[in-house]
Amino acid sequence: MRSVSVFGVTGSIGAQTLDLLRRAGGAGAFRVVALTGGRNLAALAEAAREFRAEVAVCADEGGLAELRERLAGSGVAAAAGAAAIAEAADRPADWVMSAIVGAAGLVPGLRALRHGGVLALANKESLVTAGPLLMAEAAAHGARILPVDSEHSAIFQALAGEEIAAVERIILTASGGALRDWPLERLAGATVDEALAHPNWAMGQRITIDSASMFNKALEVIETREFFGVEPGQVEVILHPESLVHSLVGFRDGAIMAHMGAPDMRHSIGYALNWPRREALPVARLDLAQVASLTFRAPDEARYPALRLAREVMARRGLAGAAFNAAKEAALDQFLAGAIGFMDMAAVVEAALEVLEPEMGPANLPQGLEDVLGMDHLARQRAGEIAARIAGGR
Ligand code: NAD
Ligand code: MG
Repeated sequence: MRSVSVFGVTGSIGAQTLDLLRRAGGAGAFRVVALTGGRNLAALAEAAREFRAEVAVCADEGGLAELRERLAGSGVAAAAGAAAIAEAADRPADWVMSAIVGAAGLVPGLRALRHGGVLALANKESLVTAGPLLMAEAAAHGARILPVDSEHSAIFQALAGEEIAAVERIILTASGGALRDWPLERLAGATVDEALAHPNWAMGQRITIDSASMFNKALEVIETREFFGVEPGQVEVILHPESLVHSLVGFRDGAIMAHMGAPDMRHSIGYALNWPRREALPVARLDLAQVASLTFRAPDEARYPALRLAREVMARRGLAGAAFNAAKEAALDQFLAGAIGFMDMAAVVEAALEVLEPEMGPANLPQGLEDVLGMDHLARQRAGEIAARIAGGR
């Protein structure tokens, strides 16, 4: 029986992972090792009971008593706190879903790789902050990282049976998010609710706002470079409002392989769950006659400074990815709290990268986890200070 763990089980990706595990036979078909969640203890406990998990872990230490109570009599062990989440990753499992949002997903993912199984990686932040470290850990333990981000799953599938040396370019599609048709001058005044109204995908709150600002695509450009090992100049972004082409790979003979499907994350989660086989999945089938046409357009860099910043981060390398992601997370916190405006997020990240430049060390520095976590901490601090200045001047 295959053993599985799901980190971030109470989120959007986590819930869709459970849906697929349930359809594949649930607790009778999988040995569920660890399930972890954040603040939603009711959903965590319910999932742990249903799937008869060995252990359920919540992020907040303060939630332990309530989690224990909710699991009373179930036989599921309860634990709490970031260290307990990392320890849950030390329990061997054949297939581990990494679906915590943010840099908090890095350490559990790294620890899970030590068992040499499959890490289904939704947490793109781990590749952005510590790509070389993650890839080296996977190689050292014979583990397999499978991308779950829809674009990267699409690229991975387009590359099946191909040589990476034959790849000329990788084209990431972007929906443009909730505000893509707004006039540029209105963007600065966009509210959280407006940025949350994504046209095509239902996702967690943070990635939905990141879609509107294109910080999500910026992270994905870096993720592409780290995961597939291509040069930054080979990664392109194209706006594709329908979200039906999930990404494309261009080869040196001029051929382009595109991956299409309904915008449903259960496709990429299911692909990673069943890999290297394909199994039936409960996703809508495209009716191309009904789709009729697909549209593409170049992204306007003035609207999306995040894309330019991603290029700078890739050129800088070293700890720049960790600084970029953490500054972005801190800026997003401030936007969600109403302290700064929508376009201020990019301004905060850009200013933070500038002040952090001397702390980043040589670009070719081999990454250590401590350095990455240190930069993450420092970048949050600096970005918080910069955001506070912007908020004070508003
Ligand atoms: P979400 O906000 O819906 O869920 C996040 C999960 O992480 C929840 O279980 C939450 O409780 C947990 N969590 C949050 N902070 C935590 C912390 N500090 N410590 C431990 N756990 C914590 O997010 P999501 O949309 O499911 O996204 C999860 C990851 O997948 C992100 O990295 C996101 O970029 C990526 N992703 C999501 C989608 C999507 O469609 N939702 C698509 C592609 C990639
Ligand atoms: Mg994506």
